[in-house]
Amino acid sequence: MPDIRTFQYFANNQWHAPIEGGYLDSENPANGEVWARVPDCRKPDIDRAVAAAHSAFYDGPWGRMLPAERGRVLRRIGDVISKHAERLGAIETRDNGKLPHMITPGLKQDQWQVDSWHYYAGMCDKFEGRVIPAEAPNMHNYMKWEPFGVVAQILPWNSPLGTLIWKLAPCLAAGNTVVLKPSEQSSCSTLELMDVLLEADLPPGVLNVVTGFGATTGEPLIDHPDVRMASFTGGTAGGKAAAAIAARQVKPIVMELGGKSPQIVLPDADLDLAVNGIAAGIFPPGGQSCISGTRLLVHRDVIEDFTNRLVDTVKKARVGAPDDPATQIGPMANRPHYESVLRHITAAEKAGHRLLLDGRAACRERGYYIGPTIFADVPNGSDLAQTEIFGPVVSTESWADEDEVLRIANDTVFGLAAGIWTRDVTKAMRMADRIEAGTVYINNYFNAATQSPVGGYKQSGYGRENGWEGMRCFMQTKSVWLSTDPHQPDPFA
Ligand code: NAD
Repeated sequence: MPDIRTFQYFANNQWHAPIEGGYLDSENPANGEVWARVPDCRKPDIDRAVAAAHSAFYDGPWGRMLPAERGRVLRRIGDVISKHAERLGAIETRDNGKLPHMITPGLKQDQWQVDSWHYYAGMCDKFEGRVIPAEAPNMHNYMKWEPFGVVAQILPWNSPLGTLIWKLAPCLAAGNTVVLKPSEQSSCSTLELMDVLLEADLPPGVLNVVTGFGATTGEPLIDHPDVRMASFTGGTAGGKAAAAIAARQVKPIVMELGGKSPQIVLPDADLDLAVNGIAAGIFPPGGQSCISGTRLLVHRDVIEDFTNRLVDTVKKARVGAPDDPATQIGPMANRPHYESVLRHITAAEKAGHRLLLDGRAACRERGYYIGPTIFADVPNGSDLAQTEIFGPVVSTESWADEDEVLRIANDTVFGLAAGIWTRDVTKAMRMADRIEAGTVYINNYFNAATQSPVGGYKQSGYGRENGWEGMRCFMQTKSVWLSTDPHQPDPFA
């Protein structure tokens, strides 16, 4: 029996055992063993964390701090994280199976998270107000940006530290204080991060972390009367429930939800580029990414060639334990999710979809492994094409006409991302305009950058993360009217 590490929750820069809840087990998905326990926080713990955040905003230094000074704190956070990147990455890999080099896609491990903190450190003092030329004589009217106060942040399990940075840095940069709840399935790297951040001298109460389930920790957190705003990343079902709670008190909430993103392959596409780009955008994280483009819409003239090449490319992938340097695809991040992906594959098979590559061949006795899985001839109306599986499972369907493929691409409740593969770039730009999605990739897929806003159309959410828009979501405007007229006529004379 391995040693089991027990984490506590974090409020007011101190660690606390749960007041009345117990602890939840955390498994290592590489072998299915419980390796850690995290608090199952309930209302009294949430009250404690929110009280700390409330006091840091209204009584503590954070609410009164000049933006440039806040920027210096955020810069320190980036520096401290850079020092401890390896330690944080190791916990994340152990807790949710993420391959070390994938913890933040596109960034080297030593730059991991750091650039985002530095970017928002620089933005703290860039939100300038305006003087408004209002149609009102003898009035000076100006607009200024203000934070909301205490913000609740709810995170998913697929990329704990990656999704955290997108929310946390801009929210603190805007001047809010935060109570954050990571997923019950993968809380450990977030708690470890709090230990690291103690070195950055963040004032007590500015950032607090409670752990537990959506219904018993997340809902009361969003519902707390001292929480002024919420930001939720997760599935569409959980997002709808969270939005309903926020609506009770007319609280603003930013929603970063699921997707079932289409990728359109035109007949003139460079098929090597398309196959490699599509495979790279789905399979290395095991399809456990919100923007995974798993609905492949391929022109009928090239679909056979395309699918043959795709199968040949991805069947070579080495599925295995994250600590094996030869591994190219790690495990599903937790047992319930692994079982859910397997159920979707079985259901698609039963529905009669043609299986070109069966990832169940990678399943092992211990750990949660599934390899790339490809289905052919999948009509867009089927469950397989419409449901977010969030695993390494793709469906392919052919099309003949551009208007038809745009209709199919948009025929989904989601609108997170889309891909277009063609040598005709002007045509691609015209098609991009007609796609209902927050991000469109042309001849590439899966890129993201701190500077570039991301978010969903339709049921994939509202609000944006990253870039200027990511910080703007955590601010509200105030309009101030100053009269320059010393006289106010009697209104009833
Ligand atoms: P989930 O919705 O089950 O849970 C997400 C978080 O919400 C967890 O912390 C959970 O405890 C909490 N939660 C659930 N119900 C809640 C409620 N009623 N009130 C308050 N909190 C609640 O999602 P998941 O399975 O953890 O994550 C996978 C999903 O996240 C996928 O759908 C994926 O597409 C999505 N996702 C979206 C983005 C994005 O940026 N759009 C990024 C990553 C993941």
